[in-house]
Amino acid sequence: MKYISTRGAAPTLSFGEAMMTGLARDGGLYIPDSVPVMPQGEITALAGLSYEETAFRVMRPYLGGFFAEDEFRGLIDAAYKGFHHAARAPMVQLAPNHFLLELFHGPTLAFKDFAMQLIGQMMQAALAKTGERITIVGATSGDTGSAAMEAFRGLANVDVFILFPHGRVSDVQRRQMTTASEANCHALAIDGSFDDAQARVKDMFNDFAFRDGVRLAGVNSINWARVLAQVVYYFYAAVALGAPQRAVSFTVPTGNFGDIFAGYIARQMGLPIERLVIATNQNDILDRAIRSGAYKTDGVRPTISPSMDIEVSSNFERVLFDAYGRDGSAVSALMAELKAGGFHISQGALEMLRATFASGRCSEDETLATIARHFKTTGEVLCPHSAVGVKVAEDHLGRTPMITLATAHPAKFPDAVERATGLRPGLPPHMADLFERPERMTRVPNDLATLEALVRERIAH
Ligand SMILES: *Cc1c(COP(=O)(O)O)cnc(C)c1O
Repeated sequence: MKYISTRGAAPTLSFGEAMMTGLARDGGLYIPDSVPVMPQGEITALAGLSYEETAFRVMRPYLGGFFAEDEFRGLIDAAYKGFHHAARAPMVQLAPNHFLLELFHGPTLAFKDFAMQLIGQMMQAALAKTGERITIVGATSGDTGSAAMEAFRGLANVDVFILFPHGRVSDVQRRQMTTASEANCHALAIDGSFDDAQARVKDMFNDFAFRDGVRLAGVNSINWARVLAQVVYYFYAAVALGAPQRAVSFTVPTGNFGDIFAGYIARQMGLPIERLVIATNQNDILDRAIRSGAYKTDGVRPTISPSMDIEVSSNFERVLFDAYGRDGSAVSALMAELKAGGFHISQGALEMLRATFASGRCSEDETLATIARHFKTTGEVLCPHSAVGVKVAEDHLGRTPMITLATAHPAKFPDAVERATGLRPGLPPHMADLFERPERMTRVPNDLATLEALVRERIAH
């Protein structure tokens, strides 16, 4: 299996190279040159398997032999052994045809752990073979950063720098980043928004002298290996409800489009997914795009679901690549237009997108009302992101079972949950002392040269 860039002008890479590279050198994102279809019989055979075995069977075709089979099984087991639920991704029922897939039982209480724990294991194994050192730089609206710190803390051959928007992540999210005491962990609070943080990280990748000098690697959701790890739970959940004999739909609280793009890949692999519903908060560029065809930036307004507060969804480029017939130069042209404010999706591309995706938006009031209503009627305590998903899913219920992804634990966003329910959700026991641990972070300006100098200086020690 080979990996190609969505902009068509970067070298073709192997799985291991794509994982270590992150962003392609032409500014594009790596994607498999063709998606392997899983025969119906093999999907049927997933019924009743453990999460780990499901993960092995779903991901194996993408590795191109980069890890030996036994080694890969070992990495998967190590990645998920720190999860606090035996099922890893348990499902609960909210209504006759509506299910909630709980993806928040990992060490940092958000779905990001599924991919980050595995990529940590895989990168460590790859680096141990070559003796190389890498520098990971990532931008976060909160959960990616905490998951990355947790996955990479203390690893011998890695420094990890996480940029987060100062004052715009929850206290729990910030503390999960700033309380990692290991010397290889660097939490950077940037004066700006998540989009500023993400833009500076992209700038670092596009500065090839810097990129090569510090051996930069990325673990943002643009990293193909992260998308791949997330494909697994779509299979796991759908098979539990009777796939491939019975089709299902998914609703996904969406920001950077990484999680729902994994669902799109599962569908391409042959998993019978009828609809993938994009759920956005009031930062609704994707909902507007699917409804109107206009992909136009409109600023970011902070919400109580901060991990979805983004102006531009990086991974949307991957699905545009398919919608435009895998034409890298067409995607490059669109991305240039986006820099100037936006573009109109062509009629053909929009039809392709609407055949797979539906969308909806959930306001701040609706988010709170959904948390309150479910607390009363089902007893389920939803985090605000999951509530956005549940509300939009409820607008799309039909005969096909709907699975909504619960992306974070309510205790990660206690203020919003308390406002809605009157009850402050407590941290699980393994994190009970989070607010007593000392914090360590650096305030940084939204300036590329300053950031690059800081990274160089820190890794020299
Ligand atoms: C990251 C995140 C999202 C958005 O996921 P994307 O892959 O960026 O679309 C939603 N909810 C929570 C809790 C998150 O951490």
